[in-house]
Amino acid sequence: MIAVARDLVTLAAAADDFFEEGFQLPFALKVIAETEPEERAEAEEKMLPRRQYADGYYVWLNYLVWLDAVVEMQPQSLSVAELEGLRVLRTARNHFLRTHPSCHACGRPEEATVVRCRHCGAEIK
Ligand SMILES: [Zn+2]
Repeated sequence: MIAVARDLVTLAAAADDFFEEGFQLPFALKVIAETEPEERAEAEEKMLPRRQYADGYYVWLNYLVWLDAVVEMQPQSLSVAELEGLRVLRTARNHFLRTHPSCHACGRPEEATVVRCRHCGAEIK
């Protein structure tokens, strides 16, 4: 068994993927839904993000996202693994937000390299 909570290097890499996957998935699902049924399997193969790390990292990250929200509402006493996990999660989230600036029109994160927001079509400045 992999001790995902203690492997902070891999957890950090999985956290970067986790945020990117959450960002890309709605776009991929939209394209797949608009694809002709007979080509849908191929579209899924191409568009759906592939996870590079063991499922346990993503289970732990989902728990940390929940824990992060709970801690904000009411301070908790946390284990060392939880504290380290939250530090990794927040670092990955900050990195994601730096590389995906908010659209000035709709406020949603967008890739810094695109010309138009894929949510609302506003020009990215
Ligand atoms: Zn927008």
